[in-house]
Amino acid sequence: MKIDIISIFPRLFEPFLSESVLGKAGSRGLVNIKVTDLRPFAEDKHNTTDDTPYGGGGGMVMRPAPLVKAVENLKNGGRPRVILTTPQGKLFNQKLAQEFAQAEQLIIICGRYRGVDERVRQLVVTDSVSIGDYVLGGGELPAMMITEAVVRLIPGVVGNEDCIRADSFTSGLLEYPNYTRPEEFMGLSVPTVLTSGNHAEVGRWRRRESLLRTRTLRPDLFEKIELTKEDRKLLES
Ligand code: SAH
Repeated sequence: MKIDIISIFPRLFEPFLSESVLGKAGSRGLVNIKVTDLRPFAEDKHNTTDDTPYGGGGGMVMRPAPLVKAVENLKNGGRPRVILTTPQGKLFNQKLAQEFAQAEQLIIICGRYRGVDERVRQLVVTDSVSIGDYVLGGGELPAMMITEAVVRLIPGVVGNEDCIRADSFTSGLLEYPNYTRPEEFMGLSVPTVLTSGNHAEVGRWRRRESLLRTRTLRPDLFEKIELTKEDRKLLES
């Protein structure tokens, strides 16, 4: 899989892409992530990528030509998902991450200032994506978030696939609570079932905790899941 990110601040990505899960996924050849500096795609000698808005109002808008040129230049052939980061887009979630993880190539556009000339969206964008109902100064953090959520789903990136299956949202539920050593910490003990060695009991306990948490913390998600007979019994117990 290839992920291309277009930004006027490519250096913001350096430590993020070279450490941890993303760094390893890159060096093991599971994904090829490249950040492209937008500035060389500007035609004028000052490499300007932004200009004042028609109609006035102050601030700057990212010019369409450099962005369209950069996207066209990065296309590998095939049909990439061209993602525009914008607070006006579809809210990013695990389902969208799973969908993006199936693509051969993602091209992510990072806006700045007042955003991107509307014609970029009309001409080259396949998906407008927001990471939440708040406004950031640029699309770099959203691009990192989308990249990290997608790359974890590429087979082989996360060592233990069970972790992905248990993740919140993957099954429609929030994940159960986790504990590690020591068994007792500041007066609080690990639930005894987890140290019992009884795998079936551990499984039931985890399922029940997942169901309870989701019902309490995210009733909107809980409403959407189909409970099995076993789930109903667990909830009643
Ligand atoms: N004036 C615009 C916001 C511009 S913010 C509006 O009101 O819609 C500048 C850039 O930051 C955007 O072009 C986008 O790339 C990025 N950005 C800001 N908030 C974002 C969010 N919630 N999700 C995704 N991208 C965001």
